[in-house]
Amino acid sequence: MRLGIAIDSRMCMSCYCCFTACKDEHCGFDTKLSKAQPQMGQFWMDIREWERGDSSRKIKTATVPTPCSHCKDPACLKAAKDGAVYKREDGIVIIDPEKSKGQKQIVDACPINAVYWNEEYQIPQKCTMCAELLDDPEYLAYLGDPKLKKPRCVESCPNNALYFGDLDDPNSEISKAIAANKVTQLEALEGQETNVVHLNVPSVYLAGTVYLPKEFEEVAIGAKVTLTCKECGSKWETTTNYFGDWEVEDLPKNDHFDIDIEFPGYKPLKFTDIVTDKDHYVGMSYLTV
Ligand code: SF4
Ligand code: SF4
Ligand code: SF4
Repeated sequence: MRLGIAIDSRMCMSCYCCFTACKDEHCGFDTKLSKAQPQMGQFWMDIREWERGDSSRKIKTATVPTPCSHCKDPACLKAAKDGAVYKREDGIVIIDPEKSKGQKQIVDACPINAVYWNEEYQIPQKCTMCAELLDDPEYLAYLGDPKLKKPRCVESCPNNALYFGDLDDPNSEISKAIAANKVTQLEALEGQETNVVHLNVPSVYLAGTVYLPKEFEEVAIGAKVTLTCKECGSKWETTTNYFGDWEVEDLPKNDHFDIDIEFPGYKPLKFTDIVTDKDHYVGMSYLTV
């Protein structure tokens, strides 16, 4: 059994219920596995908002809730001395609150900055995947069925953005969610296997605005926009909306694109070699006769 959390960015609405539930579970008292999480300054479930876009005309955000990823081969464990970080049989990575005293290098080792330094106790701290709760016989007795157990953040999410379960069981809810969605691992983790899996984090968009010739002072509604990837040959088609804007989301990263814009009665427009190294607004383009 390998316990994990899947996080669907597309479903996250930044309500902070998961963050608050984590605080409720871990602030104010110690558990068997961790010292109390401070009220301020630590974000075991960190609701990260990525600002996207390179133009004030087109700004978007992606919400990426980020706890510890419970890595298969954790960098924090390698950096720790005297067994201060250990991995349980179910894959959950735990920082021992006693053995880790003074070991600030554990904070620095995490590639996604999921470990926080507690000045008062002089220890590193992070998400425990609520293992102390999952292990608690009273909690399991209350639930009646061990399959119902969930970390507090997962239990609290009102929008089904979080899944929990056994990653080794292909029939578990979490395994089905991972199979049905696009896995979008955090780049800093460099492809290593983790028990926390991010889903549907958007990659890159290209966008622009199409205008009729300048003298009309009007946008072109319904212009056909075709994006062609020079590396893979795939095409994406869209049309400009009521405001003359077009946008294609989730494009492959670091590829080169040609963009063709057609509108009946006007000369076609073309952009060449647009690179998807970042979210990019290609600009306002004016049609000519
Ligand atoms: S509770 Fe769910 S929807 Fe709200 S911030 Fe957390 S993951 Fe997003
Ligand atoms: S995400 Fe960071 S803290 Fe969590 S297991 Fe991986 S290296 Fe350790
Ligand atoms: S699994 Fe538990 S400790 Fe980890 S972020 Fe969620 S509520 Fe906090």
